[in-house]
Amino acid sequence: MEKITQYFKTFLLWELMQGLAVTGKHFFARKITIQYPEEKTPLSPRFRGLHAQRRYANGEERCIACKLCEAVCPAMAITIESEQREDGTRRTSRYDIDLTKCIFCGFCEEACPVDAIVETHIFEYHGEKRGDLYYTKPMLLAVGDKYEAEIAARKAADAKYR
Ligand code: SF4
Ligand code: SF4
Repeated sequence: MEKITQYFKTFLLWELMQGLAVTGKHFFARKITIQYPEEKTPLSPRFRGLHAQRRYANGEERCIACKLCEAVCPAMAITIESEQREDGTRRTSRYDIDLTKCIFCGFCEEACPVDAIVETHIFEYHGEKRGDLYYTKPMLLAVGDKYEAEIAARKAADAKYR
């Protein structure tokens, strides 16, 4: 019986009809093409894009140079050097992320006890020469300063799921 069914399917071009049915279904369905960059899809608050270093509201940098992010980074993309300030607190004298090594796993953000290093929603950045994607502490702080309001809002939106 199976052989007979197969025989008729061969003459009726059954697989071809199945393929055309799928094509027809999508032909009349509502189109979801996005005209990027004018149109953009929504991003999750957990989207992991370009890194940023954050400050507290009084301007003090959050990072306390505990080096947990450096230790947890599976790509060994983070390099930290630290020093003690006159007031006895410890801060980084160097905090670099090599974005050509980074795999955007988010482990650094998860490990940070003070929410200093975060991954922003920014994915539209590029480098044109060697070293452009080597982000230093001033560059990371500048990203944080520029997008702090958005970073804080996304953290707040995600807080209830943590
Ligand atoms: S996102 Fe992952 S790979 Fe990139 S710097 Fe952070 S821990 Fe390292
Ligand atoms: S960014 Fe966070 S985890 Fe990394 S050294 Fe600074 S305080 Fe520690």
